[in-house]
Amino acid sequence: MAIKLIEIEAARGLVLDHVTKPLEAERVPLGDALGRVLAEDLNATEPVPASDNSAMDGYAVRAADTAEAPATLRTAGESRAGTPADRPLGDGEAIAISTGALVPEGADAVVRVEDTESAYGSVVVSAAVELGQNIRRAGEDIRVGERVLAAGTTVGPAEIGVLGSLGSGEVPCARRPLVSVLSTGDELIGFDEPLHLGAVRNSNSLSVPALALAAGAEVALVERVRDDPAATREAIERGLEGDVLVVCGGVSVGEHDHVRPALADLGAEQAFWGVALRPGKPTWFGVTPGGALVFGLPGNPVSAMVTFILFARPAIRALLGADPAAARTRAILDEDLPKKPGRTHAVRCSLELREDGWHARSTGAQGSHVLTSMLGADALAFLPSESDGASAGDRVEIELLPGHLALGA
Ligand code: AMP
Ligand code: MG
Repeated sequence: MAIKLIEIEAARGLVLDHVTKPLEAERVPLGDALGRVLAEDLNATEPVPASDNSAMDGYAVRAADTAEAPATLRTAGESRAGTPADRPLGDGEAIAISTGALVPEGADAVVRVEDTESAYGSVVVSAAVELGQNIRRAGEDIRVGERVLAAGTTVGPAEIGVLGSLGSGEVPCARRPLVSVLSTGDELIGFDEPLHLGAVRNSNSLSVPALALAAGAEVALVERVRDDPAATREAIERGLEGDVLVVCGGVSVGEHDHVRPALADLGAEQAFWGVALRPGKPTWFGVTPGGALVFGLPGNPVSAMVTFILFARPAIRALLGADPAAARTRAILDEDLPKKPGRTHAVRCSLELREDGWHARSTGAQGSHVLTSMLGADALAFLPSESDGASAGDRVEIELLPGHLALGA
């Protein structure tokens, strides 16, 4: 292939240059917000906790009344979670209180039930409590006006919980980008069709939409396209109705690769074609006059997944207003990985944490058709273009694969 190859980072830079701003925001009910990206900073309109409440089951008291423990205090009612005491605390009194219940007016500390003994109509406090002890103050977690979550944050279980604790019913999030996925190839058959000689199961039509969903996109269209110029052009036109079009296969220089001519016909402008990457060399990226981002990914199942992760996923994250950068760190190789200079190898690796840090080991055979090399892969280890490989014990750059973003890189 006589095409000039560009490096991964330069290619990714070109992709991100074309996402100048996130998609417009929409209001999303909190119950549907998991995985969405906040379009605005969120400031608290109410304090958390909303009021002073007890951290313990015990008795609300005045700390001064317990200074000379053991102290006997009159019991004067109860403050239960959800049902506050119906009167303030007086001198020499104790009000029974449960965890989370409102601290009654006049009380300034809570004695743990373990430090008391109740007698008829009174309670004996065996240890003095300090002012404020066992009281959770209103606003201790979140103050009114405080910025709780920043724009660009992906809503996970913790974020959704915090938003719920603030009483937000809806949150502004960037619209999910609409992604269309086309798989080209006369050889392709679906997973439910009988196998015949020369047929190839269309695995990209499942793995690539799954990657798009995992990146936060909405999959608008998944289609299989014959290696025919007119059919390719028509399918691409349908696919261009969304924000992002991903075409798998047919982007190379073969006689039956019709994707690039069809895209050129439709006015799509090429930003790059050919990346110094293995797997993924023939990757194409461009933009249509209507502003849709188009990724032409190689058809080999591993190449399609790896190039989606390296180039299309960052675009989707940027369209959502999230940080498109993948988590990167270094790991110690546990095996020799020789290669020829020329292209960066993105080796699928499993990771293991040992005393001296993260260790990486390839998932096995790395052919671009060996889709099982993606199984158990935690990261891509990069062996730079110019290098002739790496040896066991070398530290190599790794990029964590989506789904493993909690490894703390
Ligand atoms: P291509 O990029 O079209 O030259 O395809 C390269 C290789 O990937 C060929 O062996 C194809 O059969 C295979 N391939 C192409 N598309 C798919 C697909 N959607 N699912 C699985 N394999 C594919
Ligand atoms: Mg093909």
